[in-house]
Amino acid sequence: MSDRSADEPTAVELAQRVRDGELRLYELEDHADADTATAARRRLVGSHEGSAFDDPETALATTGEYAFPASEADSNVENMTGAVQIPAGVVGPVQIDGEAISGERYVPMATTEGALLASVNRGCATLDRAGGATARVTESGMTRAPVFRVDGVAEAEALVAWVRDAESRLREAAEATTNHGELVGITPHVVGNNVYLRFTYDTKDAMGMNMVTVATEAACDVIETETDAELVALSGNLCADKKPAAINAIQGRGRTVAADATIPREVVTEVLDTTPEAVAEINTRKNHVGSAKAGSLGFNAHVANTVAAVFLATGQDAAQVVEGSNAITTAEVVDGDLYVSLTIASLEVGTVGGGTKLPTQAEGLDVLGVRGGGDPPGANADGLAEATAVAALAGELSLLSALGSRNLSSAHQELGR
Ligand code: NAP
Repeated sequence: MSDRSADEPTAVELAQRVRDGELRLYELEDHADADTATAARRRLVGSHEGSAFDDPETALATTGEYAFPASEADSNVENMTGAVQIPAGVVGPVQIDGEAISGERYVPMATTEGALLASVNRGCATLDRAGGATARVTESGMTRAPVFRVDGVAEAEALVAWVRDAESRLREAAEATTNHGELVGITPHVVGNNVYLRFTYDTKDAMGMNMVTVATEAACDVIETETDAELVALSGNLCADKKPAAINAIQGRGRTVAADATIPREVVTEVLDTTPEAVAEINTRKNHVGSAKAGSLGFNAHVANTVAAVFLATGQDAAQVVEGSNAITTAEVVDGDLYVSLTIASLEVGTVGGGTKLPTQAEGLDVLGVRGGGDPPGANADGLAEATAVAALAGELSLLSALGSRNLSSAHQELGR
C-alpha cells in the first residue's frame, strides 16, 4: 500500500533507527509515508522481546492487511500498526417509523459474539411482522463539566450567581469556537469549595466531545478572567464521560431516544414461541426487580450488546457504550397483545467527525443513509440514534422471548457456541 518515494527510508531502516534510539515510535510518519511507518512498527514489534512472531518480516501480517491508506486514520490512532478486523453484518430490514429516519432499513452491526445478530434479526423480523417500531429522539445535549476551586461556599454561591448573569457572554465565547455547536445551558453544582458547571450543547450531527471541550475551554477563560474562581480541570467528571453515572441515566447525555411497538399475540406465539404474559413477567422480574436489587443503572436485558455492535460498525466511540447501556425496557400486556418499549437515556452518537470518516465505518453509515451532515444539521445523528434504538429494542424482544420459551442456551448451542 505504500507510496514511498525513493529517498524515503524503508520500513526496515525505520525500525532499525527506532531500535538505535535515533527515532521515537511516534515520529515515524515525520520521515516516511503513513503505510511505511505502520509497516516499520510491525517489524519492531515482531522482533521485540516477548513477542511470539517467528519472523519480524511477517509479524502482524493480518493486522497489516487493511482496506484503506493508513493516512486516512491519522486522526484516529497513534503508533499505528494496522487494523483489527471485526466481523460485520446487518440485521433487518426492519420498518422504522422515526422522525429522522423512516422506512424499511437494514441496520449495520459488527461483533465477535456469535448468535448476537441472529437474535437481533429475529427481533427485527418480529417487529416487522407487527408493522415496525416507532422511534423518537426526545432530548439532545452533549455535556462538559469543568470544576473550579473557590474559597468556600459563600464564594461558590457568588460564582453561581455570576454565571447566571453572564450566561449570554459565556455562550458567545463558547459558540465562537464552532460553526455548528450551540450552548443550550449551564447547570451549576456546588460541593463545598468546588463548583462544577455542567455545560450542555446541541452538537447537531457530531457526537461532540471534542467540539464541546474546545467551546467550554473558551467559556472557562472568560470565567477565570472575570472572577476569582480557578479552573482545576476542564472535565470535573460530572460530565460524565465514559464512566457509569446516574446523572447520565437521569438527565441524559448525547441523545435520549425511545422506541416502542405493539406485537400482536399471534406474532408473539408464532415467531417468538412464547406469550405476551411471559415476556412481561420476565421483563418485570429480571429487568426491573433484578436490576434494582443489583443496584444497576441499566434496567434492560442486553442493550449494550446492540449498541456496541452498531457503534463498531458506524465509527462511534466504543468507550461510550458505558452510557449507551443506561436504558430501560418496559413490557406489558395490552388488550392481549404485547407492548414493548426501550428508552436509552444517554446514547452518544455522531455521523460526522471521530471514527465516522473511516472508510469502512462510513459505509456502515451508508447502510442507513446517514453518513455526514444531515439536512437540517442534526437529522443524520438523530436518525442513527432512532435506528440504534429500534435494533436494541429488537434485541430486547428476542432475548426476553428466548428466556420465555426457555431456548436461550439451546439457541446458542445450535449456532455452535
Ligand atoms: P470532531 O471530529 O472533533 O469534530 C467534528 C466537527 O465536524 C465539528 O466540530 C464541526 O465543526 C464539524 N461539522 C461539520 N458538519 C457538522 C454537522 N452537520 N454537525 C455537527 N458538526 C459538524 O468530533 P466531535 O464529535 O467533536 O468529537 C468526537 C471525537 O472526540 C471522537 O473521536 C471521540 O473519540 C473524541 N473524544 C474526545 C474527548 C475529549 O475530551 N476531547 C472525549 C471523548 C471522546 P465546527 O465545530 O467547526 O462546526
